[in-house]
Amino acid sequence: LKSLLKDPSLLATKAYVAGEWIDADDGATFEVTNPARGDVICSVPDLSRAETARAIEAAQVAMKDWAARTGKERAAIMRKWFELMMANQEDLALILTAEMGKPLPEARGEIAYGASFIEWFGEEAKRIYGETIPGHMRDKRIQVIKQPIGVVGSITPWNFPNAMITRKAGPAIAVGCGFVCRPASETPLSALAMAVLGERAGLPKGIMSVVTSSRASDIGKEFCENHAVRKLTFTGSTEVGRILLRQAADQVMKCSMELGGNAPFIVFDDADLDAAVEGAMMSKFRNNGQTCVCANRIYVQAGVYDAFAEKLAAAVRKLNVGDGLNEGITTGPLISDKAVAKVEEHIADALKGGGKVVAGGVRHALGGTFFEPTVVTGVTQDMKVANEETFGPVAPLFRFETEEEVVEKANATIFGLASYFYARDIGRITRVQEGLEYGIVGVNTGIISTEVAPFGGVKQSGLGREGSHHGCEDYLEMKYICLSI
Ligand code: ADP
Repeated sequence: LKSLLKDPSLLATKAYVAGEWIDADDGATFEVTNPARGDVICSVPDLSRAETARAIEAAQVAMKDWAARTGKERAAIMRKWFELMMANQEDLALILTAEMGKPLPEARGEIAYGASFIEWFGEEAKRIYGETIPGHMRDKRIQVIKQPIGVVGSITPWNFPNAMITRKAGPAIAVGCGFVCRPASETPLSALAMAVLGERAGLPKGIMSVVTSSRASDIGKEFCENHAVRKLTFTGSTEVGRILLRQAADQVMKCSMELGGNAPFIVFDDADLDAAVEGAMMSKFRNNGQTCVCANRIYVQAGVYDAFAEKLAAAVRKLNVGDGLNEGITTGPLISDKAVAKVEEHIADALKGGGKVVAGGVRHALGGTFFEPTVVTGVTQDMKVANEETFGPVAPLFRFETEEEVVEKANATIFGLASYFYARDIGRITRVQEGLEYGIVGVNTGIISTEVAPFGGVKQSGLGREGSHHGCEDYLEMKYICLSI
């Protein structure tokens, strides 16, 4: 990998704590592997609670001066950081693909997307506005100011090794917080590369630390039990989110939670079918189905069911599975054997219940964790794919008759992150977008992610929003000042 990089120093293999590049106190390390090739890229320090506590303490000290700077001063450094990320987009993408597996064009896209949060929130640093409220008595004046919440602990998954971190680091650092992140152990290298560039951009020592560690639950406990941490921000499964919320309750800590989804993707009779197929391809197969906003259940109205299934299967057969570092690849490997086992389990369960595979359905000839992009027809609500997030390249097609029926089925889940539908009748569009119990609704589009909009879920998909000016609020506390004159 190093030989592919224009700037090999971006492949950092030490942890970044309190502004220093360190090894673990006990010398422990863990390996980072390339999921396409199965080989080891490098080893990184396996930190534990002691180093995490040092990162937290440094963040607390560093944020005093950082928060006291003007928004414009913080913005200037973040602008530089953003520009360095974009100037090194190709190298960052290579590192990302090597450790995570997504095809290089998608990795480039993720770097641009990830960097956009640093740009956006850097700009917002100047706009952390308060409020004045007319006094409740003649001699009273009421002022509301917004202040950084304090040290932020962050835990993120492997599916977007860059962007899941910048969505949190961007607002936290922009408003004046110190930020300690623990990237997924599958993908620490993208986080470390970002820290290299943050340091070059002029982030003060301690404002951002990257705690590489395979001991996720230890780091989570340190974040929840250390009194200097005022905020926990997490992206991952609902299951782990619940554990962290319970732990954070002892300190009554504010939490942002971006948890699992089970996105419905609805195609009505009056939809533009070709556009719907294109949207379904992007929503379902981007990142090989491994995103929390991926279409998980595709509901197609009876009148267009067969035509849609045929067009989708044809598009799926054109996907090109392989090593993401190679030219022309659209679909990389899955992240792990466990991920492949879940995909196989969901397909087997659907087939047992009467489903039919019309494309793919099996492991790919390349072996490893490569899997054939799959379309299954004849899927019903009682199957596993209807109730659990598959997190893989399986498009299950459900048939429905009426608008009322499909909205009810779409909402019949504990999750409420993203949803999508294709239709043209304006009355229907309005009713359905209002009826879906989701934090995000894509209407006639399969791609909804942007730094300028509030991303987040309702129900058991999470708490809080990332992106847009709302994304700052999760990292701010409001202070009400009552002045008697
Ligand atoms: P995924 O399937 O995407 O890995 P998880 O929710 O299992 O989703 O993991 C998301 C992140 O949370 C990962 O970085 C993982 O290492 C971390 N994690 C898992 N269990 C815990 C825990 N008990 N405490 C803190 N972090 C955890």
